[in-house]
Amino acid sequence: MAKLYFYYSAMNAGKSTTLLQSSYNYRERGMSTLLFAPKFDDRFGKPAIYSRIGLKQDATLFDANFDLFAESEKQKEESGSLRCVLIDEAHFLTKMQVAQIVMIAKQLNLPVLCYGLRTDFLGETFPGSQYLLAWAEELVEIKTICHCGSKATMNMRIDEEGRAVTSGEQVHIGGNDRYLSVCMKHYVEGVSSIPDLSKQKEGAVCS
Ligand SMILES: [Zn+2]
Repeated sequence: MAKLYFYYSAMNAGKSTTLLQSSYNYRERGMSTLLFAPKFDDRFGKPAIYSRIGLKQDATLFDANFDLFAESEKQKEESGSLRCVLIDEAHFLTKMQVAQIVMIAKQLNLPVLCYGLRTDFLGETFPGSQYLLAWAEELVEIKTICHCGSKATMNMRIDEEGRAVTSGEQVHIGGNDRYLSVCMKHYVEGVSSIPDLSKQKEGAVCS
């Protein structure tokens, strides 16, 4: 029986690259894949998933009202070779949509590989990540590191001067350069986690 997987991480850990590599592994064996990505994320103007190292594959875009189960069922009927569903930025799924992808795995018997953030810049789970953490049968952490070398588990939003931001909207699209993936120590320390500032601050040496 196929399973629901949640590959979670802080930002800029290479989630899209990992997704595209997994999809490629199916495709090179003659099996097709169905990729979903959130609709509002249209930085690139085309319905596709891109990775920072240049990989790309067409994707079906979803908004909050999109039925991922119905679309997957239709695609499975149309393509006898569909073997896997992959979802980028899966933290943007609604609770209902996470329930739908559970059914993709259990009723359609297609593995569903979700890639997304665990928490936002305030340390709160997104709706999608909350239910993926609760319901996914396999939780897999994709690791990235803080500037100190420890594992980064938190996302810190920074302003134009490089200072930590501690309020604002959960979603700030198109701004990877305005986030830092940091360890919990440096998340808690806030501004002292900025490398340039930490050099000037006694006791802020990474350990
Ligand atoms: Zn750190």
